[in-house]
Amino acid sequence: MIVGAGIIGAACADALAAEGLAVTVVEREAIGSGATAAGMGHLVVMDDNPAELALTSYSLALWRQLAGADPAAHEYSGCGTLWIAADDEEMAAARTKQTILRAHGIPCEMLDAAALYAHERQLRPGLRGGLRVSGDAIVYPPKSAALLLARAQRRGAQVREGQVQAITSHGVLLADGSELHADRVLVANGSASVQLLPELPIWPKKGHIVITDRYPGLIRHQLVELGYIKSAHAASGDSVAFNLQPRPTGQLLIGSSRQFDAADKAVEPAILGRMLAHAASFVPALAGLNALRCWTGMRAASSDGLPLLGPHPSRPNVWLATGHEGLGITTSLASAQLLAAQMAGRPAQIPVTPYLPARFRQLGMQHA
Ligand SMILES: Cc1cc2nc3c(=O)[nH]c(=O)nc-3n(C[C@H](O)[C@H](O)[C@H](O)COP(=O)(O)OP(=O)(O)OC[C@H]3O[C@@H](n4cnc5c(N)ncnc54)[C@H](O)[C@@H]3O)c2cc1C
Repeated sequence: MIVGAGIIGAACADALAAEGLAVTVVEREAIGSGATAAGMGHLVVMDDNPAELALTSYSLALWRQLAGADPAAHEYSGCGTLWIAADDEEMAAARTKQTILRAHGIPCEMLDAAALYAHERQLRPGLRGGLRVSGDAIVYPPKSAALLLARAQRRGAQVREGQVQAITSHGVLLADGSELHADRVLVANGSASVQLLPELPIWPKKGHIVITDRYPGLIRHQLVELGYIKSAHAASGDSVAFNLQPRPTGQLLIGSSRQFDAADKAVEPAILGRMLAHAASFVPALAGLNALRCWTGMRAASSDGLPLLGPHPSRPNVWLATGHEGLGITTSLASAQLLAAQMAGRPAQIPVTPYLPARFRQLGMQHA
């Protein structure tokens, strides 16, 4: 039994059904409607630590196989990422990143200022250069979630509408009072996972996104400022960072903001304005474009920045696939493979230890 049909629940359903396991997915809203619908769908290799690099690069390879085989269905584009360095410090960070990525066989090239502007003419003058990571890509996440779940259903998985209210010793209790029996319950409901398991070290991190009208060819890569790394991993406070994505439709997705302790999903004009002004400081033409819609979503941030993938250490038959923060679209496919390998009792393609829930000692205590 899987709780939640976001990209993580859908990817796990697909991988577990492929393993031959009987799978039922319980979803309270539409498929892929949580953070999965709110996210940018940037598939990006991140290297803040070796475990993050291992999971993102493994998952990127799986995405290239899956979505690369049917790009139109996933709205997949291999646009690559262009990491922008505004000053010498960020240029040094770009070089460090290049060294790490190259050591892991990930193609990337340093760009001086001239090369940067040759790739992206709309960037403001005066930037120092950047790093181009050509294997990164984008998808449309709710569509990919629906496709993964549809494949899981063809492999025998069931999908059921309902709100899981509690996990019981035999399965789950739904809000309508019915009980569903299951040998194992996989909690994959993103930032709502703490509602079922309050002991989880997971907090919501709110983000805003804006989508524009169609401006084909205005930019060609997913553009991210290297300063993003500093703000994205702050443990408190509100921050904005420049993150711009060319959709295959010609529309642009403008991000992003990060807020802790934001209780509701309402769009907040103050931080949205900050985010847009910051984006326009990198691409001045943005100020003259038509914005069609803006929205927010909640990232499920774990206290060490890595997802929780594996058995709950003190709740028998409860498994976890949550805490993917701002990388859950990227890491969904690898996360599902790590879960499937653990459930099947065989080694995974990469070591699972860094992602095991048991790394959090508080989860080892008995819970009521
Ligand atoms: C603004 C923003 C930008 C992002 N950009 C990117 C990006 O560019 N690249 C990237 O890799 N990641 C990105 N992310 C992160 C990514 O979107 C998430 O990590 C990912 O979508 C998490 O998927 P999930 O399936 O765990 O959670 P969700 O998508 O939230 O899915 C959980 C599902 O569980 C259901 N549910 C919840 N509680 C219950 C219950 N009790 N019973 C039944 N069903 C329940 C919900 O309805 C929902 O459908 C971004 C996130 C945000 C917010």
